[in-house]
Amino acid sequence: MSDKNDSLQEKLRALEAVFLQKLPSKIQEILSTLQAVQDRPDDKEAMIVLHRHLHTMAGSAGTFGFAEIGSQARVFESVLKPHLEGKPWTVGELNAYSADMNRYFDYALKHDTTPVNGVAESVQEEDRHVSDPHLIYLVDEDEAQNQEITDQLEHFGYEVVRMNHLRALAAAVATRRPHVIVIELSFPEGKVAGAEEIARIKQIERFRIPTVFVSRSSSFDSRLLAVRASGDGYFTKPVDVVALTERIEGILQLNENKSYRVLIIDDDAVTSKFYGAILRDAGMNVYLLNDPTQLLTVMTDFRPELVLMDVYMPVCNGVELSRMIRQDNSYVDVPIVFLSSEADRTKQLDAVRAGADDFITKPVAPEYLKSSLSSRAERYRSLRALIMRDGLTGLYNHTAIKEQLAAEISQAGRNGAPLALAMIDLDHFKEINDTYGHPAGDQVLRTLARLLRQRLRRSDIVGRYGGEEFAVIFPDTTATMARKVLDQVRVAFTKIQQHCENGHFGVSFSGGVADLESTTDADELIDAADAAMYVSKQSGRNRISMA
Ligand code: GH3
Ligand code: MG
Ligand code: MG
Repeated sequence: MSDKNDSLQEKLRALEAVFLQKLPSKIQEILSTLQAVQDRPDDKEAMIVLHRHLHTMAGSAGTFGFAEIGSQARVFESVLKPHLEGKPWTVGELNAYSADMNRYFDYALKHDTTPVNGVAESVQEEDRHVSDPHLIYLVDEDEAQNQEITDQLEHFGYEVVRMNHLRALAAAVATRRPHVIVIELSFPEGKVAGAEEIARIKQIERFRIPTVFVSRSSSFDSRLLAVRASGDGYFTKPVDVVALTERIEGILQLNENKSYRVLIIDDDAVTSKFYGAILRDAGMNVYLLNDPTQLLTVMTDFRPELVLMDVYMPVCNGVELSRMIRQDNSYVDVPIVFLSSEADRTKQLDAVRAGADDFITKPVAPEYLKSSLSSRAERYRSLRALIMRDGLTGLYNHTAIKEQLAAEISQAGRNGAPLALAMIDLDHFKEINDTYGHPAGDQVLRTLARLLRQRLRRSDIVGRYGGEEFAVIFPDTTATMARKVLDQVRVAFTKIQQHCENGHFGVSFSGGVADLESTTDADELIDAADAAMYVSKQSGRNRISMA
């Protein structure tokens, strides 16, 4: 935890250093614009530019800890304002204004801007690599018995590392942090843990890593022990591995859910990086946009769950940009928050009328920024989930997956990129329901949903197309590649043992894959993949065919 804070502090310091490095040139910019205003006092254009520079300076200087420069810039900004709104300058006024400003900024340059050496651009641009498999530590003393748990977790795409004593855990965690720890409390029924074991188990809490306990015992004592070690789950043996996986998945998703996609729009790259670093530290997925003309493309490609933007920008202002966002039906409800040094109430009202949800005044405390943005993004996400998600599997529902397909096809068209679609249908599913019961059937559907999400890339989009039919969109992928990937999922799925009251059973699925080579129409693509799936059914099931 403290490591994380240290690295945020480092990033912030690096950004402050960048700000400081650029400060002299920004001040020069202000002074030369001021000269332009002095040369042509009636030229509104020059005043607008000067106002924007001062405004940016007021906001960013405060943010980076140069409160003095920030408040001075704000004073200069407020003096300028009435003239911007039409009040003519008298010669004396303008000369005094210019003299004050030159004097102050000369002073600031000499006293406040000692250049810092060795400044590094420490914040990486958005990286969209595929995440590593989730790592699970399984601590158990009875290796043979838990081979099944390991196998099953591996089928779900987790990387499992086993160790046979709690003693080994601390060192392993220090070397490589797992996402989840599974601990087998292998005390024979009736026997309680020894003092040393209890101490070690309680220590687990310190790791702050989600921990699930598996035990032969369901005694109050061992459950209490698990609770005191901040356990996130407790399963008695024989373990229903699908339920165990579901719990692990739930835990991981809780963590992942925090990674809201936040789009920051600010023409000032340093300021946006500063706020970006704060939000990334809170686990958010941040996209920095410094060129507002790219707005619509980024909205479609990045699909932000919150837009944080500056009010003043060169090409167009934030109020106009939020109108532009709201004009598109798909974004009528995405939260828009203004981050500005604007203290003027009327301006804020304008922004709210244009569809802004909130107004945060710079400089803002990082903790406040994180919490107010994450609660807004959270609300948006859960609303969207209600509308777009299937209740049983948590996947995109029929309508949503079709929407996604249309959007992905048009994006592929724009980028000249391939795209594949797969349709999947469970084999003999009616029979499964008839034999093992409808609840067992539901469990199978959830298992497949989870497996698909686990095994596919994050950019692949999975939906429940119908009852026991699923659709997967593979952006940037040809049908041949998609078929290969899906075939691995197929093999893994057949190896998963589904639990029911009287034992285990296995299920398979058939699939069909088509890509944009066959058609660029969404409905036709679905038909093509569906037809290929039907071929799989005809030729024996448990296979993937290409259109
Ligand atoms: P095939 O291999 O040819 O696809 O055979 P099938 O039995 O899977 O196909 P069929 O279309 O005859 O049956 C689909 C079954 O899926 C019938 C229906 O009861 C079941 N099903 C659909 N939705 C759900 C659901 O939400 N939960 C459960 N448990 N079963 C469902
Ligand atoms: Mg069917
Ligand atoms: Mg079927």
